[in-house]
Amino acid sequence: MARTNTLANFPRARLMSGPTPLERLDRMSNKLGIDLWLKRDDLTGLGFGGNKTRQLEFYFGDALQQGADTILITGAVQSNYVRSAAAAAARLGMQSVLQLEERVPDMGADYYSSGNVLLAKILGAEHMSYPKGEDEAGADAALHARAEELKAQGRKPYVIHLGLNHPPLGALGYVVAGQELCQQMPDFDAVVVPSGSGATHGGLLTGVALAGVNSPVFGVCVRRDSSKQHARMQTVLQKLADLLEIDAPALQAKIEVLDEALPPGYGKLSATTRNALEMMARTEGVFLDPVYSAKTFAGLLHLVDVGKIQPGQKVVMLHTGGLPALFGYQSELTTSS
Ligand SMILES: *Cc1c(COP(=O)(O)O)cnc(C)c1O
Repeated sequence: MARTNTLANFPRARLMSGPTPLERLDRMSNKLGIDLWLKRDDLTGLGFGGNKTRQLEFYFGDALQQGADTILITGAVQSNYVRSAAAAAARLGMQSVLQLEERVPDMGADYYSSGNVLLAKILGAEHMSYPKGEDEAGADAALHARAEELKAQGRKPYVIHLGLNHPPLGALGYVVAGQELCQQMPDFDAVVVPSGSGATHGGLLTGVALAGVNSPVFGVCVRRDSSKQHARMQTVLQKLADLLEIDAPALQAKIEVLDEALPPGYGKLSATTRNALEMMARTEGVFLDPVYSAKTFAGLLHLVDVGKIQPGQKVVMLHTGGLPALFGYQSELTTSS
């Protein structure tokens, strides 16, 4: 697989500050008996950073090429994606419409007012809400309905879709990231990433493979169980391979997903996740977020426990950001458990 040249054919809006740092976690390495590195995609730069900056470079590239003036996007109430999209729209002189879905039950008042919700308000985005959290097609359809209204008013809307029946342009940003990582460190033994929509996991897996590195990319399920996520990753990789005109089966054979860190469900903290979050902060002074990166680290700890990561191995964890959500989870993180 050597056809990375096609990446340059996709329009791309520059939103990244540059390559993100790759840092060794000395104290955590000692604690776990491995050689642990953190790829700091929490430091992508724009509007509190995180993994969506890389993904949005390709969506906004496409939107600008189509002459769009307004971006429409959907996500959870504490979505980092919609906050990052509103920040990118501001940077590029566009408007944004954010649709917030009820994906996480029984949350406190902070969840609805602080963290990403607060930031998106400051960014001046238009807000809509969607009553269901597990209805990708319905959520996309509601965005399209709003886009049609905007068109009738003479605006030029562009919808960033959630559903899998659209090309996964955002995953291209993680193909770039996978290649960037392999340039920084070609000899890692494993990399551990969160697996939600699959754009990050699928893109990074593909970028690593295109760089000729064979080490496993472990996807930690944060949204659905491993059998559902495995099926989703098959589709994501097929669509991504179609975009890049490369072979899908070789990529699909590399899918590794684990769901031990998922319970009690998307956006919900278990004691294990909270321990992982606190352990990282107290050992390294690095914050993880409750929805994604703390679960990713909990997944990594599980891999060490069961021996899928061996003593002494060089392991990279991708820190995807999401830190504003900490403030939306204040009550969950301060109750004694
Ligand atoms: C969205 C998000 C993820 C999941 O990434 P996908 O590309 O949707 O799989 C992980 N971490 C953070 C902080 C996110 O905001």
